[in-house]
Amino acid sequence: MFGGSIELKTPEQLATMRRAGLVVARTLQRLREAVAPGVTTGDLDALARECLAAEGASSNFLGYHGFPGVICASVNDEIVHGIPGDRVLAEGDLISIDFGAVVDGWHGDAAISVQVGTVASEVAELDRVTEEALWRGIAAARLGGRVGDISHAIESYVRSQGRYGITEGFTGHGIGSEMHQAPDVPNRGRRGRGPKIVEGMALAIEPMITLGTHRAAILADEWTAVTTDGTWAAHHEHTITVTPEGVWVLTALDGGAARLAELGVPCAEPV
Ligand code: MG
Repeated sequence: MFGGSIELKTPEQLATMRRAGLVVARTLQRLREAVAPGVTTGDLDALARECLAAEGASSNFLGYHGFPGVICASVNDEIVHGIPGDRVLAEGDLISIDFGAVVDGWHGDAAISVQVGTVASEVAELDRVTEEALWRGIAAARLGGRVGDISHAIESYVRSQGRYGITEGFTGHGIGSEMHQAPDVPNRGRRGRGPKIVEGMALAIEPMITLGTHRAAILADEWTAVTTDGTWAAHHEHTITVTPEGVWVLTALDGGAARLAELGVPCAEPV
């Protein structure tokens, strides 16, 4: 639960969040390209550290409640918060990489699942459903709407696609001068419920979807969240804001323009 009041950002602060978001987007693109059989999750963490240094940005993950990496690397039945280390990726794995950056005190946060070589068809479909659920949630955000509209869009899309688990105990969140702020952005919910979406709000939306259970357990490392039934999970996340011009996906290279156009939603990326 991310409590407290909701921080509303000025246009200048959102512009700085966009700079942080672009660091996140460019780094995740580099990490996606680096994923291959034989690569370790620690190799990916090292690459992310190089990217942060080259960008002159800092990490919001490193040292967060003692977290030892700049990425979370969660493989197969690991849902989120995996610690990068000497685990070697193998053909057919699904790795979820969560990454954040801070620029001039303002935060960005995003995640991608990446298929290692060729994965089982049901795993590829899980990945597709999770990413599409993220975009359905993003596309449901509008000024004057409610956070529950986002939750409902994610849940209803996932439910429409088959018998997937929507992980309980983890939600999206507000973001700004800190990585985790109010409000919670649940991945299940009802339209018209929750806080009103207003100008200056920034939200991290992040469905965590499994091939089985909605239940998660935490490993003895006190970080890694795994499915209790051993089924695999996917995780996709973006940081967004909503302006009178439309939705602005701060952690997408194109500001969300291409995917939002497919969904018929205006994008607020400045031209
Ligand atoms: Mg997040």
